[in-house]
Amino acid sequence: MRYHSTRNGKNFVDSAHAVLTGLALDGGLYVPEKLPQIDVAGCLQENTMEMATGIIGAFLPEIPNMKKLVDRAYKGKFQTEELTPTVDTGKFTVLELFRGPTSAFKDVALCMLPQLLTAAREVKGMNEDVLILTATSGDTGKAALAGFANVPGVKICVFYPDGGVSAIQRAQMVTQEGNNVAVCAVKGNFDDAQTGVKNIFAAGENGRLPGGNRLCLSTANSINIGRLAPQVTYYFKAYADLLRRGQIQMGDTVNFCVPTGNFGDILAGWLAKKLGLPVGKLICASNANNVLTDFIQTGTYDRRRPLHKTLSPSMDILVSSNLERLLYFLSEDTELVSKLMNQLNTDGNYTVPANLKAAIIEEFHAGFCDDVGAQTAIANVFKEHNYLCDTHTATAWAVAENYVNQTGDSRPMVVLSTASAYKFPGSVLSALEPLSDNDEFAQMDRLAKLTGWPIPRNLSDLQTKKELHTDVIEKEAMLQFVMSL
Ligand SMILES: *Cc1c(COP(=O)(O)O)cnc(C)c1O
Repeated sequence: MRYHSTRNGKNFVDSAHAVLTGLALDGGLYVPEKLPQIDVAGCLQENTMEMATGIIGAFLPEIPNMKKLVDRAYKGKFQTEELTPTVDTGKFTVLELFRGPTSAFKDVALCMLPQLLTAAREVKGMNEDVLILTATSGDTGKAALAGFANVPGVKICVFYPDGGVSAIQRAQMVTQEGNNVAVCAVKGNFDDAQTGVKNIFAAGENGRLPGGNRLCLSTANSINIGRLAPQVTYYFKAYADLLRRGQIQMGDTVNFCVPTGNFGDILAGWLAKKLGLPVGKLICASNANNVLTDFIQTGTYDRRRPLHKTLSPSMDILVSSNLERLLYFLSEDTELVSKLMNQLNTDGNYTVPANLKAAIIEEFHAGFCDDVGAQTAIANVFKEHNYLCDTHTATAWAVAENYVNQTGDSRPMVVLSTASAYKFPGSVLSALEPLSDNDEFAQMDRLAKLTGWPIPRNLSDLQTKKELHTDVIEKEAMLQFVMSL
């Protein structure tokens, strides 16, 4: 399948190349020339692993033995064989994406990406090692480290904003074992770390680190198509669950509300719709960093605003990279996308043409909810539905509620749940009762006692693990750090 950059439709690569390099050399994101087709009715009959095999294979046909890769990626690593279960709360259906090895939704993609990457390396007969560079706002880092640890032919280096992730998230990363992993804090926020990674790519030569070092650069951020494709699967899985429970008939449309940061998760939902899944509205939920809410409502994207630190840090983002793909898909105009992205770079804002704005509003709705609203939702959902949400999920729940109240849209609503409540124990616990302890591990225990919800093993084990990665650097020193690996 031919892929090209969102900023240039003339140079083509295949899907294996797109997975290997992550980002196109012109700074654009890889998109398929034509979206694949699948047998939707057949797919909905399958179990999650079979769905994943068919869907990922449809996007990445140059990567062989997909069934084997899917097995290796997921078998025995999730709490349940169905990988991403759904829970009918009586009001909304919650799609639980956090039942993987690091209790974050990013596991769905990042268990799969190393398999795709090593397979792509083989397809391309590549001898050099690949260096995965990743900036994280908290969850990607650990999920990527866990996915890539000890994978032959690959090294991984994760940068996180110093003080910008929770104590649990930090503990998850700095205790990561493996002979090919590096973790480093950067003085700055997530956007600084992400910009630093982009600068390292820009300093490279032909996709390789500068200087004689021949490491081939790639990324585990959600700009990699190898991360996006596996996320399409769980939209099908959720729809199949609603069918099985008799809550919908085949063909009925279902709305999805997605807690959004880099726009990867929700874009996967849009791709599921383009593959033929009966998806109604895709509701983009943001926290106080409501740049996407403003964009979807007005057609103007403006990143010139302060970045707020919120209780849902994985959504504390001002530049949502994957939005670029949506702009391309809906306009099919690489010149336009290139122009808008340049404007974002130089002016900090852009406005899309009226027809593109209309196309976006046709398929998306956007809303936001601040920390107070999210904590209120945590308390209410627990009280009324006996369901324990984390802060990101609660943000989406609140936005979904507002959407239903505003529009009266009565179609079934699936709320994507992107993290275990135990990844943010202080924020969740303080929604339910006043905090009596500042230690996050003590808060975890208290939360478990109060709610009766079990703590995932990977999180309760952290307390006894040794800190292995304690570097903190200036953002200007990121390239130097990488060169020294
Ligand atoms: C990454 C993340 C998100 C945002 O997902 P995007 O694909 O970046 O939009 C939401 N919630 C949690 C817990 C996350 O880790």
